[in-house]
Amino acid sequence: MTIQGAGGDGAVRLRMVRPTEVSPGRLLTCPTCGATGGIALIAVGRQAEAACLQDHIWQDRDLCASAVRQLLHLTWYPPDDGCILYPYPSDAVCEQLLPDLVEDRSLTPGGPAARDDISWEAHASTATTSSSSAMMFCLMYARCMGALAVPADGSLYARLYPKVGGDAVCAHMACLLVALALYDTGRRSRLVKLSRLPLRAVRAALQPARADELRSLRPISRRPEVWLLRATDADRLQHADAETWERWRQAAADIVDDVLEDYARPGRENPQLFHLDARPRRFPDEATWYTDAERKWQGTW
Ligand SMILES: [Zn+2]
Repeated sequence: MTIQGAGGDGAVRLRMVRPTEVSPGRLLTCPTCGATGGIALIAVGRQAEAACLQDHIWQDRDLCASAVRQLLHLTWYPPDDGCILYPYPSDAVCEQLLPDLVEDRSLTPGGPAARDDISWEAHASTATTSSSSAMMFCLMYARCMGALAVPADGSLYARLYPKVGGDAVCAHMACLLVALALYDTGRRSRLVKLSRLPLRAVRAALQPARADELRSLRPISRRPEVWLLRATDADRLQHADAETWERWRQAAADIVDDVLEDYARPGRENPQLFHLDARPRRFPDEATWYTDAERKWQGTW
């Protein structure tokens, strides 16, 4: 396999030596010359195409930009068994491209909270599928949205995936801002069943005029002595200059936009958070990317 591209626009090109199985029992085959070997897989922006050695170029129903970038990730970070396969079905997210920040994970010391907020948090966390806190639920879904969007969108991939020059701190902060927007949207509307959060309302919370309020938001933890926000994150939120803040905010908004675009279809004009559950995910996420101070989340995403 040879790799070309992986440049700033998120375009990648992988030349596969052996035939590529893009769905069970189905090899990627050039419709013009019938070739199955030596085919290049290309992702540009949100689109994917294939090219054979004779430069015939075509699109295939099982080929998508997200899967091509995940396959490239697998070549850089191969699994323990060394078996690198095209990640199908093509709408599945099999690899987590978001980096983990290696830093102190201590939580922010807690402070007085509004009685209404405490009551909402208690109801919302009980109503979620786990018994964890409302913010942990929001963090899990935000990370999931990032995992869906980053390989699918060339611009986000170039900005947030470190292996091609993306900014790991920006990736982390963008996911955190999505989580804070989820949390704040639920908190303001007193929505208890957070899986019903409307994604367009979450997107609205990330508009420039409103997103500034997220910088001072401190989600309640089940332990009153701490807020459920890493001290490192609270510090970054407090001290980021305008340009840095705008990069994080834009990336967060773009992640939600990507998910909204993905879900835009007749009959789903107003997608809600739980619609994300329909996408197959193959990697476990116990929320330890954010904090190991809370109980691990047991779900598989
Ligand atoms: Zn051909």
